[in-house]
Amino acid sequence: MEYKADVGVFGGSGFYSFLDDVREITVETPYGPPSDKIALAKIGEKTVAFLPRHGKGHTLPPHMINYRANIYAMKQLGVTRILGPCASGSLQPHVKPGDFVICDQFVNRTWGRKDTFYDGPITTHIGGAEPYCPELRKIAIETAREKGLPVHERGTMVVIQGPRFSTKAESREFSSHGWEVINMTQYPEVVLAREMEICYANITLITDYDVGLEGNPDIQPVSHEMVLKVFNENIGKLKDLLYDIIRRIPEKRNCRCGEELKSARMA
Ligand SMILES: [Zn+2]
Repeated sequence: MEYKADVGVFGGSGFYSFLDDVREITVETPYGPPSDKIALAKIGEKTVAFLPRHGKGHTLPPHMINYRANIYAMKQLGVTRILGPCASGSLQPHVKPGDFVICDQFVNRTWGRKDTFYDGPITTHIGGAEPYCPELRKIAIETAREKGLPVHERGTMVVIQGPRFSTKAESREFSSHGWEVINMTQYPEVVLAREMEICYANITLITDYDVGLEGNPDIQPVSHEMVLKVFNENIGKLKDLLYDIIRRIPEKRNCRCGEELKSARMA
């Protein structure tokens, strides 16, 4: 691979470009093509690789994204840190549209997605207890706080298959567990990054209250238009937050994400 990058960013719904003065490259992987061309540009001393996970024209719904190709393309570029911003729904009244959540846990409710690089003969079992990089999460939380953004320092994201949104009964179930956030793309992106020993942090922007809020008939259930409207109102803040997080990421990793497979690989 001729090109190199330090930090990868996956753009979600409504987030199709990130940087100025980009060089667009086509990357091939053993798992097929990633969602789109990858845009490379500098932020300070770091080279950043940006890839819109749905493709630039939002042509790939969540269940059709080739997550393995997207992560593997970043790995081939030499990326060691990935920021995975996304638009999500809130499942709890105190998590409001316009808020940011730096998730620390997920619950997978997707099915049929290719969610491992290890189909044999090499077998691994990566740890799942702390799926997100603690160092990147800390930088994201501190940066958001200093910028005065409304940020939740932790949150559990339930990842649904989509492309439809939840029924009221489904959403009530998720809320009743205390889970805060709902989304369609976080799984398997985060675990595939872990398998490739890449640090990964999620930065969620809340766009809606999923099916609405019980006892509050004025709040409408989510629609794709609503997601894009709230996202577009806040995308400037999100990009600004990402720039500052990237500037603050230290060159050397102070976490164990890069050592995942040493303990996970089975003989
Ligand atoms: Zn890490």
